[in-house]
Amino acid sequence: MKVKFILPALTESKGKYWRPIKYSLFPPLGLATLAGYLDADDEAEIIDEHVESINLNDSPDLVAIEVYITAAHHAYAIADHYRRRGIYVIMGGLHVTALPHEAARHADTIVLGPAEEAWPRFLHDFRRRQPHPLYQSLNRTLEHLPPIRRDLIKRKNYLVPNSIVVSRGCPHSCDFCYKDSFFRGGRSFYTYTLDQALREIQSLTGRHLFFLDDNIFGSLRFAHDLFREMIGYKRLWQGAATVEAIKNQYLLKTAAASGLRSLFIGFESLNQEALRNHNKHHNKIADYEAVIHSLHDLGIMINASFVFGLEEDNPSVFETTVEWAIKNGIETATFHILTPYPGTALYDRYLAAGRIRTSDWNLYDTRHAVFQHPFMSAAQMENGYWQAYHQFYSWNSILRSVSRNTTLLNRFRHLIYTGAWKKCEWLWAAVIHLKKLNIAIPILETVLKGKSPIVNFKEDRQLACRREI
Ligand code: SF4
Repeated sequence: MKVKFILPALTESKGKYWRPIKYSLFPPLGLATLAGYLDADDEAEIIDEHVESINLNDSPDLVAIEVYITAAHHAYAIADHYRRRGIYVIMGGLHVTALPHEAARHADTIVLGPAEEAWPRFLHDFRRRQPHPLYQSLNRTLEHLPPIRRDLIKRKNYLVPNSIVVSRGCPHSCDFCYKDSFFRGGRSFYTYTLDQALREIQSLTGRHLFFLDDNIFGSLRFAHDLFREMIGYKRLWQGAATVEAIKNQYLLKTAAASGLRSLFIGFESLNQEALRNHNKHHNKIADYEAVIHSLHDLGIMINASFVFGLEEDNPSVFETTVEWAIKNGIETATFHILTPYPGTALYDRYLAAGRIRTSDWNLYDTRHAVFQHPFMSAAQMENGYWQAYHQFYSWNSILRSVSRNTTLLNRFRHLIYTGAWKKCEWLWAAVIHLKKLNIAIPILETVLKGKSPIVNFKEDRQLACRREI
């Protein structure tokens, strides 16, 4: 059997917002995971349209498409094309799970929720020529996951080929997050076993790792055991966490000792009431600055995420947020306009209140205001969003933010890391065009490396935190 896995390009790949490096970071790990379930004599290929063009004139036995919201229309066009030619199409992913009736019009079969257990059931039925139109994730476990088919990933197309995911989901339930709809009907947070995670890490060549888990600190016990084992592996890694999890000094220092060098953190807002209203009550603003200092003291850089347009926001939110980030020496920031994704509690609430302005999924890219805000017009939100980016990444702001670092080494890392990410688009475009991203990996590792933190696990405060784990 010949199977073609496709990750269709997001709409922005054809527009003015396209930044090639942003979509040449991570390979489609989910599709490589599904390919692991094929038989040894099956043929498989993975096409990631963000980094390569797609040939639509081939004739595989099966096409499997992963669908994100702003790629939905394009994904459906690809699916329709193959189906017109009599080729069987199965679709899954966040958008398919959120709007199954819409997706089902373009596929022979759809999969709802995480596919690790539903996909092999489908394969079994497909081989017997008895596939069903719908498969739903029933049992949530990663225990019997076969090896990920990393051999199908074209490593030279990515800056971070060593992407890794050792858990699924997140223990929290923010009302704007896709997570609740995707994991509906079962566990919404579960992890590899420790042995599985360590095996996967050891299978990756090179030094740099990027954990793409929604929240690598989601289980304090699992995270602690993983980081503790990783000490001595001499890895450098990046990942994502919540403010709440990294308040635990003992865990954070263990992470630093295991090679953590940069962390994506969803601060989202500087307004406690707004966070509470969006069910992100686990973020305590009073903790923000202490957490930032702890991370910077350990040489861990921060990619801060902020959302504009929460219910209590007003037009001052853009300037206030950016100034706060600069004042706190944040290295990189990701800004978003609040986006009520279909399937989320937020979408249902806004739909019921008549506040959804459009169902053009191409605009659900967190750059467009797709809902009515009580105090801001769509134009105000969109202008404020762009203004925030321009202000945060102006040279003046970068230098002000760099100056907040306490050591010369960290100032240097901050400057190079931020400058390379946002000020060298032409250089990245050239490197990507030449398919030479692999030459940037040692440079990235050097910048991330910094000075290995000296971690003293015996301090009383850390021991107190240790009891929480
Ligand atoms: S903490 Fe992050 S990943 Fe978890 S539910 Fe909230 S937004 Fe989603």
